[in-house]
Amino acid sequence: MGTYGDDGNSLVLRQRLMWRGYDAEIVRITLEDAVPDSCDVYTVGGGEDAAQKLASRHLSASPGLQRAVERGAPVLAICAGMQVFGEWFVVSDGSRAPGLGLLDVTTSPQATRSIGELVVAPQVDGLTQPLTGFENHMGATVLGPDAAPLGRVTSGVGNGVPAGQSVPAGGLGEGVVQGSIIATYMHGPVLARNPELADLLLCRALGVDSLPPVEVPAVERLRRERIAAARR
Ligand code: GLN
Repeated sequence: MGTYGDDGNSLVLRQRLMWRGYDAEIVRITLEDAVPDSCDVYTVGGGEDAAQKLASRHLSASPGLQRAVERGAPVLAICAGMQVFGEWFVVSDGSRAPGLGLLDVTTSPQATRSIGELVVAPQVDGLTQPLTGFENHMGATVLGPDAAPLGRVTSGVGNGVPAGQSVPAGGLGEGVVQGSIIATYMHGPVLARNPELADLLLCRALGVDSLPPVEVPAVERLRRERIAAARR
C-alpha cells in the first residue's frame, strides 16, 4: 500500500543511506510477489479499506514479513499498515477483518474522519524532536498491554477514540511501538518530514548506535512550516 505517497518513506531511507556511502536497494512487493524475509528494513504504507483487506490477506498467505519481525528486523507501518498489523480492524461497511496479529491493537471507526496536520511528542528513546505528519483516517486504534504509543498528540487526533467513547484523561496517544515495529497514522511521507525517525530505523537496520549527520535545510524549513500550520 502507498496510496498517500507513503512509498516515499523507502526513497528517504535509501537516500539517507546513499548520502552516508551505503548502497541500498528498494524491493517493491505487489500482490503477485512472495514477501521476502531477508530485507534489512520494511515499510508498509496506508491505503483504502479495499486495499488494506487485500494487503492483509496477502501478507498472511506469504508470511515473510512475520519471519523478519521474529528476527527483529525494523518495520515502519503507516495508517492502514498499522491497522493491518493489529488483531482486527473494522472497515467502513461495518465488517471486521482479521489482521496479522503482529501488534496488540484493534481498530474500529471513530465518530468522524480525522483529516489534518498531526504533531506528536515522541516517547521513544532516540527521538527528541516533535514528529510532524498529515493524518487522514476513519479508524481509531486501541492499544492492548503489549503495545506502547509512539508518542502523545499535541495537535491532531492520532490513534483517536472509537465512536461512543471519550478521550482518556492522559490525552490522545499516537502510533504504536512493539518489538521492532514502529507504526503511526502520520503520512507526509513521515520519514521525509522526520529525519530523526528515518535515522532511528537505519541505525537499527545497520546495527549501529549513530550515523554521521546530514543537513538538509529544505527539510528543516518544511518541518517548521508544517508544525506552525498545525498550531494555526
Ligand atoms: N482505511 C483506513 C482508515 O480510514 C486507513 C486510511 C489510511 O491509510 N489513510 O482508517
